[in-house]
Parts: sequence; structure tokens; C-alpha cells
Amino acid sequence: MDVLIVGTGPAGLMAAEVLASRGRKVILVDSKPSFGRKFLMAGKSGLNITNDQELGKFISRFGNDQKKLEPMLTSFGPEKVKKWTQALGQEIFIGSTGRVFPTTMKASPLLRLWLKRLLSLGVEFKMNYKLVDWHDSFVFDTPSGKKFLTPKTTILALGGASWPKLGSDGSWAKIFKTKKIKVNCFAPSNVGVRINWSKFMNQFHGIPVKNIQMFSDNLTTRGEALVTKEGLEGGGIYELSPALRRGAILKIDLFPDITSENLVIKLSRNRKKNSISNYLRKTLSLSGVRLALINEFIRPIPNSPQNLAYSLKNLCLNQQGAHSIDQAISTAGGVDFSELNEHLMILKRPQVFCVGEMLDWEAPTGGYLINACLATGYWVGKNA
Ligand SMILES: Cc1cc2nc3c(=O)[nH]c(=O)nc-3n(C[C@H](O)[C@H](O)[C@H](O)COP(=O)(O)OP(=O)(O)OC[C@H]3O[C@@H](n4cnc5c(N)ncnc54)[C@H](O)[C@@H]3O)c2cc1C
Repeated sequence: MDVLIVGTGPAGLMAAEVLASRGRKVILVDSKPSFGRKFLMAGKSGLNITNDQELGKFISRFGNDQKKLEPMLTSFGPEKVKKWTQALGQEIFIGSTGRVFPTTMKASPLLRLWLKRLLSLGVEFKMNYKLVDWHDSFVFDTPSGKKFLTPKTTILALGGASWPKLGSDGSWAKIFKTKKIKVNCFAPSNVGVRINWSKFMNQFHGIPVKNIQMFSDNLTTRGEALVTKEGLEGGGIYELSPALRRGAILKIDLFPDITSENLVIKLSRNRKKNSISNYLRKTLSLSGVRLALINEFIRPIPNSPQNLAYSLKNLCLNQQGAHSIDQAISTAGGVDFSELNEHLMILKRPQVFCVGEMLDWEAPTGGYLINACLATGYWVGKNA
């Protein structure tokens, strides 16, 4: 065996494809009985594989982590991901916000074709191999007892720590710590917020609040948020994860297209004998879930037009924090980049590389996550 790859998510599979197509003998192992479980789960919401953006703009969506990933994303960015998907025999379509999906909107057909390609390149798979230790050899718990593998080159593609039942449980971090390799604590990323709604909100579970601006600390997003039984979900909320998981307050501007001054003018009209709800309904066309949010969080509703306008543009949601890491789409934290060289090789462990979500970076939903996993797998495949 030339190369051992541990982890069969998109990052590990891409590294396997690149190395096997260059004639290397590759063995892929995973703790689970079947491969790519989180990738399959991502397919349940359509499998957003990349975002059809100009490369510079695409890379900028990685925020503070863009410098770390720039070389990898430049070598395998949105254009390459689209071509690679099509070359696998999967047609793609581009949604209105640039999100790119396979037309099947599922991961299973793509994964089947990918497996076929890997098998034709001679890649060998071993399932139910859980990495539990690492000395001169890599040590695995398997149904037939402990196995020791000592490859020339190893690529670790062990994923983050969300949705642990799919295999990416982050337990590898303990092994790294015993080797004095710095792993930054995992934290939920792309996760909803918990809100203890009153019973009056029951009828709005499953209803989106459209065309709002959301902000938390120094982060701002525009879009919609979905009211669920437990709180709020959706891409706009997920983008605020770095602030929300620190416990920052979540605020909503219900009228992002109207200035505060214009809102005050509208709210200065004579209320006559209307109740405040009727008055808001008539003057601002407020109804349904938007009006319900006002009744939920602005109590008492201020009489002064200035104060009311301020409250409507700074609706403070009494959230109870981000959902737990188990429910997050991805995780922040992971192997610190200071432990790696430019090829993503662990400096203290020559010929051992790390790829995918197990590295310390984060990005919003919208195809950035899978693209970055593919890109790091491709990069290490080329450089290992
Ligand atoms: C509900 C949901 C929806 C998502 N939707 C999207 C989307 O539409 N677009 C997008 O870009 N991203 C999406 N993601 C995120 C995306 O799926 C992940 O970022 C991506 O799968 C990470 O790839 P990876 O190869 O780094 O790791 P993973 O896919 O997590 O794979 C890691 C593998 O390593 C194995 N493993 C872990 N520990 C061990 C061990 N000790 N020994 C052996 N094997 C081990 C695991 O079993 C697993 O198979 C979604 C995630 C979820 C949960």
C-alpha cells in the first residue's frame, strides 16, 4: 500500500481519486459500515456542491479563514467542481443565489458513480475500521480485533464533530492531543438558535419570516428565517453562528428597505380608535408571522413613533443560544494550521496529511463547505 486514507467523506474520496489516478495504490478506511454518510445526509437538502461565483468573491466568503484556504480553493474552485461533477455523469443546475446542485438533488447517484470510478482506479475500501491510536503504526478497532497499518503516506480525512452518529464524532482530537498536535476546540457552525416561543407562536411553526435583515454583534445578513418549534433556522441565521455561539444578542430589522426616518413618518399618522395591532396592520401592512413576532417581543408596544420605529428595526429576539453541536451543519475548530506545512502535512509527523472539515476553518452554507473539502482533498492528493 502506498497511501492510507482514513475517512470516506468528500475530502478523503477526492484525495483517493487524485492519488489513484496517478497510479498510487490507495486503501480507504472508515469507522462506519458504509462510506460518505454525512455527504449522503447533505444530499437530503439538495447537495449544494459549490457556488457559481467569481473566484475572488467565492474565497472572500471564508472570512477570517480565506488566507488559509486560498491556494486550495484557487486550484479546485467552483469551475473545477462543476466540471468534475459533470464528468462524473451528473448534470448540474444553478439556483437563483448561485448555489450549484446536481439535478438529481441527491448525493446517492453521484456517490455511486464516484465509487465506480474509484474501484476502476484500483482503490480498496475497508469499512468498520475505527482509528483509535497512532504510534509508528495507525491502530484501528475492527470487528476482528485491533489492526495495525503502517503506510508510506497517510491522509487523515476524519471530518468535524457535528452529527456524530454519521461517523464524524471528533474523537480523533484526543489522539492528536496526546501527540501534542494543537487542535482548537470544536464549536457549532451553521446552526439555528433556540427560542422559547409562547404558545401564540405555535401556528407559525414552519413559516418563514421573509425579507429581513438579521444581525448579531458585528455580523449582518439579509434574507429569511424559518420559525420552528425550537427557534429559528435558515442560511441567514447560520451565517451569524460565530457571534451567536458566543452568546451575542440576535436582532432583526423587519423593514430593511425603509429608513428609520420614513418609518417614523408612517408611524406618526393618527391612530384614531384603532388597536395597536390594527394600526400596524393598516399603516405598515403587517400581518401573520411578522405581526406575531412584534407581539412576542415588543411588550409593551411603545406609543412614541420614534421608539416604535427603533423597536421594529432592532427587534431583539430573546434567544437561548445556538443549538448544540450535534445539530450543526458543520463545526468550527479542528487542527490548527500552525501544525501544518503548505501541503497540509503535519510538521511533527512527516508524510501524514489532514484534509477537509477536520482542519480549523469555517464557512457559511451555500456550497462553500463541500467545495473546500474537495479542494483540500485535491490539494493533498497532488502534493502528498
Ligand atoms: C444536514 C447537513 C447538510 C449539509 N448540507 C451541505 C450542503 O448542501 N453543502 C455543503 O457544502 N455542505 C453541506 N454539509 C456539510 C458537509 O456535509 C461537510 O462539510 C462535509 O461532509 C465534510 O467532509 P469531510 O470529508 O471533511 O468529512 P465527513 O464527510 O464528515 O467524513 C469524515 C469521515 O471520517 C470518518 N471517521 C471519523 N472519525 C473516524 C475514526 N476515528 N476512524 C475512522 N473513520 C473515522 C467518518 O465516519 C466519516 O465517514 C451538510 C452537513 C449536514 C450535517
